[in-house]
Amino acid sequence: MKIFRKIKEYNEYFKGISKDKIVGFVPTMGALHEGHLSLVRCSKKQSNITGVSIFINPLQFGPSEDLDSYPKQEKQDLKLLENENVDFVFIPSSKEMYPEKMLTNVKVSKLQDNLCGAKRPGHFDGVTTVVIKLFNIIRPDKAFFGLKDFQQYTILKKMVNDLNFHIDIIGCEIIREKDGLAMSSRNKYLTEDDRKIASNINIALKEGMELIKETNYSVKEIIDKLKTKYFKDVRIDYFWVYDRYKLFPLQEGDIPVKDIVITGAFFIGKARLIDNMRL
Ligand code: AMP
Repeated sequence: MKIFRKIKEYNEYFKGISKDKIVGFVPTMGALHEGHLSLVRCSKKQSNITGVSIFINPLQFGPSEDLDSYPKQEKQDLKLLENENVDFVFIPSSKEMYPEKMLTNVKVSKLQDNLCGAKRPGHFDGVTTVVIKLFNIIRPDKAFFGLKDFQQYTILKKMVNDLNFHIDIIGCEIIREKDGLAMSSRNKYLTEDDRKIASNINIALKEGMELIKETNYSVKEIIDKLKTKYFKDVRIDYFWVYDRYKLFPLQEGDIPVKDIVITGAFFIGKARLIDNMRL
Protein backbone atom coordinates (compact mmCIF):
# COMPACT_ATOMS: atom_id res chain seq x y z
CA MET A 1 0.00 0.00 0.00
CA LYS A 2 1.46 3.32 -1.11
CA ILE A 3 1.14 6.32 1.16
CA PHE A 4 1.29 9.78 -0.38
CA ARG A 5 1.45 12.98 1.63
CA LYS A 6 2.33 15.24 -1.30
CA ILE A 7 0.36 15.85 -4.48
CA LYS A 8 3.60 15.64 -6.48
CA GLU A 9 4.29 12.12 -5.21
CA TYR A 10 0.78 11.03 -6.18
CA ASN A 11 1.21 12.57 -9.65
CA GLU A 12 4.25 10.36 -10.27
CA TYR A 13 2.28 7.27 -9.19
CA PHE A 14 -0.72 8.28 -11.33
CA LYS A 15 1.51 8.51 -14.44
CA GLY A 16 2.20 4.79 -14.03
CA ILE A 17 -1.48 3.75 -13.96
CA SER A 18 -2.50 2.46 -17.37
CA LYS A 19 -5.50 4.22 -18.94
CA ASP A 20 -7.68 1.10 -19.03
CA LYS A 21 -7.61 0.73 -15.22
CA ILE A 22 -10.61 1.92 -13.23
CA VAL A 23 -9.53 4.00 -10.26
CA GLY A 24 -11.99 3.94 -7.32
CA PHE A 25 -11.70 6.59 -4.65
CA VAL A 26 -13.02 6.81 -1.08
CA PRO A 27 -12.63 10.24 0.56
CA THR A 28 -12.66 10.19 4.38
CA MET A 29 -11.68 12.24 7.40
CA GLY A 30 -10.08 9.23 9.10
CA ALA A 31 -10.95 7.62 12.45
CA LEU A 32 -12.04 4.76 10.24
CA HIS A 33 -14.73 2.23 11.13
CA GLU A 34 -16.69 -0.49 9.33
CA GLY A 35 -18.77 2.18 7.54
CA HIS A 36 -15.67 3.54 5.82
CA LEU A 37 -14.35 0.03 5.16
CA SER A 38 -17.63 -0.92 3.47
CA LEU A 39 -16.98 1.87 0.96
CA VAL A 40 -13.49 0.49 0.39
CA ARG A 41 -14.96 -2.96 -0.24
CA CYS A 42 -17.53 -1.49 -2.68
CA SER A 43 -14.67 0.19 -4.52
CA LYS A 44 -12.53 -2.96 -4.57
CA LYS A 45 -15.42 -4.83 -6.22
CA GLN A 46 -15.99 -2.19 -8.89
CA SER A 47 -12.49 -0.85 -9.60
CA ASN A 48 -8.99 -2.08 -10.49
CA ILE A 49 -7.24 0.34 -8.16
CA THR A 50 -8.67 1.63 -4.89
CA GLY A 51 -7.42 4.73 -3.12
CA VAL A 52 -8.55 6.36 0.13
CA SER A 53 -7.91 9.90 1.31
CA ILE A 54 -7.67 10.89 4.94
CA PHE A 55 -8.06 14.62 5.40
CA ILE A 56 -9.88 16.55 8.12
CA ASN A 57 -11.08 19.41 5.97
CA PRO A 58 -11.14 22.66 7.97
CA LEU A 59 -13.37 24.35 5.35
CA GLN A 60 -16.36 22.21 6.27
CA PHE A 61 -16.32 22.89 10.03
CA GLY A 62 -18.18 25.85 11.53
CA PRO A 63 -16.43 28.08 14.12
CA SER A 64 -18.14 26.37 17.07
CA GLU A 65 -17.78 22.83 15.73
CA ASP A 66 -15.37 20.02 16.60
CA LEU A 67 -12.48 20.63 14.17
CA ASP A 68 -9.84 20.63 16.93
CA SER A 69 -11.20 17.63 18.80
CA TYR A 70 -12.10 15.51 15.75
CA PRO A 71 -10.70 12.01 16.45
CA LYS A 72 -7.34 11.18 14.85
CA GLN A 73 -5.83 7.67 14.69
CA GLU A 74 -3.58 7.62 11.65
CA LYS A 75 -1.57 4.52 12.57
CA GLN A 76 -4.67 2.44 13.19
CA ASP A 77 -6.34 3.78 10.04
CA LEU A 78 -3.37 2.77 7.90
CA LYS A 79 -3.40 -0.71 9.40
CA LEU A 80 -7.11 -1.11 8.67
CA LEU A 81 -6.59 0.02 5.07
CA GLU A 82 -3.61 -2.25 4.62
CA ASN A 83 -5.76 -5.18 5.78
CA GLU A 84 -8.29 -4.29 3.08
CA ASN A 85 -5.53 -4.34 0.42
CA VAL A 86 -6.07 -0.72 -0.50
CA ASP A 87 -3.66 0.34 -3.26
CA PHE A 88 -2.91 3.85 -2.05
CA VAL A 89 -3.72 6.32 0.70
CA PHE A 90 -3.51 10.08 0.24
CA ILE A 91 -2.93 11.93 3.53
CA PRO A 92 -2.21 15.56 2.78
CA SER A 93 -1.58 18.25 5.38
CA SER A 94 -3.80 21.35 5.43
CA LYS A 95 -0.87 23.25 3.95
CA GLU A 96 -0.61 20.81 1.07
CA MET A 97 -4.34 21.17 0.32
CA TYR A 98 -4.57 24.90 0.99
CA PRO A 99 -1.11 26.42 0.45
CA GLU A 100 -2.65 29.86 0.10
CA LYS A 101 -5.96 31.47 0.95
CA MET A 102 -8.69 30.04 -1.26
CA LEU A 103 -10.63 32.61 -3.28
CA THR A 104 -12.70 29.96 -5.02
CA ASN A 105 -15.47 27.84 -3.65
CA VAL A 106 -18.16 25.71 -5.21
CA LYS A 107 -21.76 26.00 -4.11
CA VAL A 108 -24.61 23.68 -5.05
CA SER A 109 -27.66 25.79 -4.27
CA LYS A 110 -31.22 24.69 -3.30
CA LEU A 111 -30.18 21.19 -2.22
CA GLN A 112 -28.43 22.71 0.77
CA ASP A 113 -31.36 24.91 1.86
CA ASN A 114 -32.66 22.34 4.38
CA LEU A 115 -31.44 19.56 6.71
CA CYS A 116 -27.75 19.95 7.66
CA GLY A 117 -27.29 22.69 5.06
CA ALA A 118 -29.67 24.96 6.96
CA LYS A 119 -28.12 24.14 10.33
CA ARG A 120 -24.44 24.24 9.35
CA PRO A 121 -23.99 27.33 7.17
CA GLY A 122 -21.06 26.97 4.78
CA HIS A 123 -20.61 23.27 5.56
CA PHE A 124 -21.54 21.95 2.14
CA ASP A 125 -19.54 24.64 0.32
CA GLY A 126 -16.56 23.31 2.26
CA VAL A 127 -17.44 19.75 1.28
CA THR A 128 -17.96 20.42 -2.43
CA THR A 129 -14.81 22.52 -2.62
CA VAL A 130 -12.57 19.90 -1.01
CA VAL A 131 -14.17 17.06 -2.97
CA ILE A 132 -13.49 18.87 -6.26
CA LYS A 133 -9.90 19.47 -5.20
CA LEU A 134 -9.53 15.80 -4.27
CA PHE A 135 -11.14 14.72 -7.56
CA ASN A 136 -8.71 16.93 -9.51
CA ILE A 137 -5.75 15.56 -7.57
CA ILE A 138 -6.69 11.86 -7.59
CA ARG A 139 -8.50 11.81 -10.98
CA PRO A 140 -10.66 8.76 -10.12
CA ASP A 141 -13.23 7.10 -12.38
CA LYS A 142 -15.57 6.30 -9.49
CA ALA A 143 -16.02 7.80 -6.06
CA PHE A 144 -17.80 6.09 -3.18
CA PHE A 145 -19.84 7.89 -0.54
CA GLY A 146 -22.01 6.67 2.34
CA LEU A 147 -25.76 7.19 2.26
CA LYS A 148 -25.55 8.05 5.95
CA ASP A 149 -24.61 11.52 4.75
CA PHE A 150 -27.54 11.51 2.38
CA GLN A 151 -27.59 15.25 1.73
CA GLN A 152 -23.86 15.19 0.97
CA TYR A 153 -24.36 12.32 -1.48
CA THR A 154 -27.28 14.13 -3.19
CA ILE A 155 -25.31 17.38 -3.48
CA LEU A 156 -22.19 15.69 -4.85
CA LYS A 157 -24.21 13.76 -7.44
CA LYS A 158 -25.75 17.01 -8.64
CA MET A 159 -22.38 18.80 -8.67
CA VAL A 160 -20.75 16.11 -10.79
CA ASN A 161 -23.69 16.16 -13.17
CA ASP A 162 -23.88 19.97 -13.42
CA LEU A 163 -20.14 20.38 -13.98
CA ASN A 164 -19.60 17.39 -16.32
CA PHE A 165 -17.12 15.53 -14.19
CA HIS A 166 -16.30 12.14 -15.70
CA ILE A 167 -16.72 10.45 -12.34
CA ASP A 168 -19.45 8.06 -11.18
CA ILE A 169 -20.69 8.92 -7.70
CA ILE A 170 -21.73 5.71 -6.00
CA GLY A 171 -23.81 5.69 -2.80
CA CYS A 172 -23.26 2.80 -0.38
CA GLU A 173 -25.72 1.65 2.30
CA ILE A 174 -25.44 2.74 5.93
CA ILE A 175 -23.44 0.38 8.15
CA ARG A 176 -24.82 0.08 11.66
CA GLU A 177 -23.81 -1.18 15.09
CA LYS A 178 -25.66 -4.27 16.41
CA ASP A 179 -28.30 -2.08 18.07
CA GLY A 180 -28.89 -0.13 14.84
CA LEU A 181 -26.89 3.01 15.64
CA ALA A 182 -25.32 4.26 12.40
CA MET A 183 -21.55 3.96 12.66
CA SER A 184 -19.80 7.32 12.87
CA SER A 185 -16.38 8.59 13.88
CA ARG A 186 -18.26 10.88 16.26
CA ASN A 187 -19.74 7.89 18.17
CA LYS A 188 -16.40 7.98 20.02
CA TYR A 189 -17.70 11.06 21.87
CA LEU A 190 -20.59 9.09 23.42
CA THR A 191 -20.62 7.88 27.02
CA GLU A 192 -22.37 4.62 27.86
CA ASP A 193 -25.53 6.51 28.82
CA ASP A 194 -25.40 8.61 25.65
CA ARG A 195 -24.99 5.44 23.67
CA LYS A 196 -28.32 4.05 24.97
CA ILE A 197 -30.13 7.25 24.01
CA ALA A 198 -28.42 7.30 20.62
CA SER A 199 -29.72 3.85 19.75
CA ASN A 200 -33.25 5.34 19.78
CA ILE A 201 -32.47 7.24 16.58
CA ASN A 202 -32.57 4.12 14.45
CA ILE A 203 -35.55 2.69 16.35
CA ALA A 204 -37.47 5.93 15.76
CA LEU A 205 -36.58 6.04 12.06
CA LYS A 206 -37.70 2.43 11.61
CA GLU A 207 -40.97 3.12 13.40
CA GLY A 208 -41.42 6.28 11.33
CA MET A 209 -40.98 4.27 8.17
CA GLU A 210 -43.56 1.73 9.34
CA LEU A 211 -46.06 4.50 10.10
CA ILE A 212 -45.44 5.94 6.65
CA LYS A 213 -45.98 2.58 4.96
CA GLU A 214 -48.90 1.33 7.04
CA THR A 215 -50.96 4.34 8.12
CA ASN A 216 -52.38 7.55 6.72
CA TYR A 217 -50.86 9.77 9.39
CA SER A 218 -49.61 13.16 8.29
CA VAL A 219 -45.95 14.13 8.53
CA LYS A 220 -46.64 16.22 11.64
CA GLU A 221 -48.53 13.40 13.34
CA ILE A 222 -45.71 10.95 12.65
CA ILE A 223 -42.91 13.23 13.79
CA ASP A 224 -44.80 14.39 16.89
CA LYS A 225 -45.43 10.77 17.91
CA LEU A 226 -41.78 9.82 17.50
CA LYS A 227 -40.47 12.92 19.25
CA THR A 228 -42.71 12.26 22.26
CA LYS A 229 -41.84 8.58 22.41
CA TYR A 230 -38.07 8.69 21.79
CA PHE A 231 -36.61 12.16 22.05
CA LYS A 232 -38.26 13.85 25.05
CA ASP A 233 -34.93 14.87 26.59
CA VAL A 234 -32.89 15.13 23.40
CA ARG A 235 -31.93 18.40 21.72
CA ILE A 236 -33.10 17.94 18.16
CA ASP A 237 -31.38 19.96 15.45
CA TYR A 238 -33.96 18.83 12.90
CA PHE A 239 -36.19 15.80 12.40
CA TRP A 240 -38.63 15.71 9.51
CA VAL A 241 -39.72 14.05 6.27
CA TYR A 242 -38.30 15.44 3.02
CA ASP A 243 -38.57 14.82 -0.69
CA ARG A 244 -35.89 12.24 -1.34
CA TYR A 245 -34.55 13.83 -4.52
CA LYS A 246 -35.03 17.57 -4.06
CA LEU A 247 -34.64 17.55 -0.27
CA PHE A 248 -37.47 20.01 0.38
CA PRO A 249 -39.55 19.48 3.54
CA LEU A 250 -43.01 17.98 3.14
CA GLN A 251 -45.85 20.12 4.51
CA GLU A 252 -47.12 19.35 8.01
CA GLY A 253 -50.41 17.96 6.68
CA ASP A 254 -48.91 15.92 3.83
CA ILE A 255 -49.32 12.16 3.98
CA PRO A 256 -45.95 10.73 2.87
CA VAL A 257 -46.28 7.90 0.38
CA LYS A 258 -43.11 7.51 -1.68
CA ASP A 259 -39.89 9.22 -2.76
CA ILE A 260 -39.25 10.47 0.73
CA VAL A 261 -36.43 10.47 3.24
CA ILE A 262 -37.08 10.61 6.96
CA THR A 263 -34.04 12.09 8.60
CA GLY A 264 -32.75 13.97 11.60
CA ALA A 265 -29.80 15.38 13.47
CA PHE A 266 -29.64 14.96 17.23
CA PHE A 267 -27.33 16.39 19.88
CA ILE A 268 -26.49 13.55 22.26
CA GLY A 269 -23.73 14.17 24.80
CA LYS A 270 -20.88 15.81 22.93
CA ALA A 271 -21.92 14.41 19.57
CA ARG A 272 -24.24 15.57 16.84
CA LEU A 273 -25.53 12.45 15.14
CA ILE A 274 -27.36 12.11 11.83
CA ASP A 275 -29.23 9.21 10.29
CA ASN A 276 -31.90 8.57 7.68
CA MET A 277 -34.14 6.06 5.95
CA ARG A 278 -35.42 6.37 2.43
CA LEU A 279 -38.57 5.21 0.62
P1 AMP B 1 -16.26 10.90 7.07
O1 AMP B 1 -14.92 10.32 7.41
O2 AMP B 1 -17.19 10.99 8.22
O3 AMP B 1 -16.15 12.17 6.25
O4 AMP B 1 -16.94 9.85 6.10
C1 AMP B 1 -16.31 9.42 4.93
C2 AMP B 1 -17.30 8.64 4.11
O5 AMP B 1 -17.73 7.50 4.85
C3 AMP B 1 -18.55 9.43 3.75
O6 AMP B 1 -18.92 9.15 2.41
C4 AMP B 1 -19.57 8.92 4.72
O7 AMP B 1 -20.90 9.02 4.26
C5 AMP B 1 -19.15 7.46 4.83
N1 AMP B 1 -19.67 6.86 6.04
C6 AMP B 1 -19.51 7.31 7.33
N2 AMP B 1 -20.19 6.52 8.19
C7 AMP B 1 -20.79 5.56 7.44
C8 AMP B 1 -21.65 4.46 7.75
N3 AMP B 1 -22.03 4.19 8.99
N4 AMP B 1 -22.07 3.69 6.73
C9 AMP B 1 -21.71 3.95 5.45
N5 AMP B 1 -20.91 4.98 5.10
C10 AMP B 1 -20.46 5.78 6.07
